[in-house]
Amino acid sequence: MSEHSPARFTPEERNPDHREVDLLLTNISWLVTCDGEMRRFRSGALAIDGSRLHGVGPTDQVKRQFRGRHEMDLSGFLVLPGLINTHTHAAMTCFRGLADDLPLSRWLYEVIFPAEAASVNPEMVYRGTVLACTEMLKNGVTTFCDGYFFEEAAVRAALDCGMRGILGQGVLDFATPDQPDPTRSRERVEAFLDAFPKSTDRLRPSIFCHAPYTCRAETLQWAKGLSKDHGILFQIHLSETAAEVEEILQKHGERPSFYLDRLGILDAQTLCAHAVWLDPGEIELMAVRQARISHTAESNMKLATGVAPVPRILAAGIKVGLGTDGCASNNNLDLFSEMDKVAKLHKVIHRDPVVCPAPRVLAMATRDGAAVLGWDDQIGSLEVGKRADLIAIDCNQPHLTPLYDPASHLVYAVKGSDVRHVWVNGEQVVRDRQLLKVDEAEAIAAVNALAGKIKASAKSRIIS
Ligand SMILES: [Zn+2]
Repeated sequence: MSEHSPARFTPEERNPDHREVDLLLTNISWLVTCDGEMRRFRSGALAIDGSRLHGVGPTDQVKRQFRGRHEMDLSGFLVLPGLINTHTHAAMTCFRGLADDLPLSRWLYEVIFPAEAASVNPEMVYRGTVLACTEMLKNGVTTFCDGYFFEEAAVRAALDCGMRGILGQGVLDFATPDQPDPTRSRERVEAFLDAFPKSTDRLRPSIFCHAPYTCRAETLQWAKGLSKDHGILFQIHLSETAAEVEEILQKHGERPSFYLDRLGILDAQTLCAHAVWLDPGEIELMAVRQARISHTAESNMKLATGVAPVPRILAAGIKVGLGTDGCASNNNLDLFSEMDKVAKLHKVIHRDPVVCPAPRVLAMATRDGAAVLGWDDQIGSLEVGKRADLIAIDCNQPHLTPLYDPASHLVYAVKGSDVRHVWVNGEQVVRDRQLLKVDEAEAIAAVNALAGKIKASAKSRIIS
């Protein structure tokens, strides 16, 4: 049974002491909580009322406490928390496959920057983000942390799709599609924060400074100050390439992490994406400051920028989440694929099959992803009191048979396309792989309609 159905109760289950909840998910073949102890239950159940989890445990135990106005039998399914994509630029779905297999500087300066200058506007950001949300939800991602231009349009898209997210307005010290005059970028960010919808607890605002080499010291400082004033996440790309580390060293006489620390940027509400070229001293500094890291393995592999020293970063006690980065450098938003790559990449680099074991990588995509966003009191694991963000995977498939260890399957065998049902904040947003809040065909058609103009804006010799 895959549809919600009105619950039928045995006389015993009509116990008046039962608390009534909106929905009971029962007989879940494997319930993987991703909590601190990585508890998992065979024949598990969840009691969901409103946006929160009220019961988590074995089906017989949960049914002794709760009866649901609706009940769904999930035998044959594996249920886990929704995955958390800690770094992306959602609207860049519009640039998926526009140009590949180029050196980073040519890719950026000859394709991506001209395409952005010609085509990034509120409609493109809205359409691109709706497509991104559609793709992420179907791949089991329920929360994303974004940074781009015209981020108000990304906010609307996330709201329409029913996704949870942190939406960061982008800041650079040169003309951007939504701020031709960089001396006024603070006003731009303040307008974004003022207009941010207060009526939803699914979305939070953020400020996203592009990088230490594209933002001046004063810019980084006012943006971090504003983030602190609003109590919101500050995002930045850090040490993606060896060349930018060299540039910061030349300009400021110190490595990027120490430079940011001198400016007062590094703390527990700063999320650094990439962090590929951290030396041991920087790792120690980041650990002391409790700065957060988004590991973007696939993007770093595709652009050949390097491999972040993740085992060493984890050993230092730094919180690490996983990020896909934008679709132009990945070229998907699938965290199941990302988990598989992360687990294998560090093994081969270290020539050690014990490095980055499956449960550790699964935690990075769930519980630790929530922690790096400062949202782990609400999401990232299936625990009583937390928000009901969860996904159900159909395990009755050849490539998922047999199933000895769910963490192993989730990292090494499950594909995003195995996700059948998705709930965000207690609301079902995907049922039997069908989006319930947005029209998938319309989302695809809208981006296809934009693609012609985007292609024309890129240099023909690159993409012909
Ligand atoms: Zn990025």
